[in-house]
Amino acid sequence: MPPTLIDIGLNLTHDSFDHDRNDVLARAQDVGVEYMLITGSSLANSQAAIDLVKQHPQRLRATAGVHPHHAAEFPSSHSEQLRALLTQPEVVATGECGLDYFRNFSPHADQERVFRLQLELACESHKPLFLHQRDAHDPFVAILKDYLPRTAGGVAHCFTADLREARDYLDMGLYIGITGWLCDERRGQHLREVVQHIPLDRMLIETDAPYLLPRDLTPKPKSRRNEPAFLTQVLNAIAHYRGATPESIAVATTANARRLFGWP
Ligand SMILES: [Zn+2]
Repeated sequence: MPPTLIDIGLNLTHDSFDHDRNDVLARAQDVGVEYMLITGSSLANSQAAIDLVKQHPQRLRATAGVHPHHAAEFPSSHSEQLRALLTQPEVVATGECGLDYFRNFSPHADQERVFRLQLELACESHKPLFLHQRDAHDPFVAILKDYLPRTAGGVAHCFTADLREARDYLDMGLYIGITGWLCDERRGQHLREVVQHIPLDRMLIETDAPYLLPRDLTPKPKSRRNEPAFLTQVLNAIAHYRGATPESIAVATTANARRLFGWP
């Protein structure tokens, strides 16, 4: 029996899974990926995530939130609808929310407005934050600090930055989510050092499927689609760079996910 793993971030509502979603869930189970947190990135997408959880209540939970890419399409008047989604029992985290100044799909003012709005909701719902940040570390931390003490904490998901940013998050009490970015020999080099410095009781693992197919996976699926079964690739890479066993990383990260999200 492989150790139980929890993929804390994947987009299983993505249409690339429409033709074989149950097979994807079965393959994940075969390698120990028993539980998964389905990322909600807009009102409609969060509702879709909740609907999917209702079909697999034993194994899935959802986040509800608005990704910074979609901030411009989210008028503040829609916050009531998001508040309602956050009260649903299938939802265990607020987000994904944050700032993305790398792609800049939404103007900064909209990103900051929608981030603050969700931080307010996270203080009310007391469901931990599922945080996204890219190329916006300083403004992100400045905004987050105002709210964090009134929230149930959270995770900096898909962490790809340097040790300084990791330390800032750890100092704030956040968990750090590691993806297959670590398995990328071109752009993941610096993360090999970062993962050695994250305390084991603050680390979470995620695939971000269907994105971020681990580059060290062999053979690679023709579709290039990532899926939750490939979470073991992330697990093994962390174990390798820490000089630890995959089992010890599995036990710790699964316990962390249970603790943060109140997983039954
Ligand atoms: Zn993200």
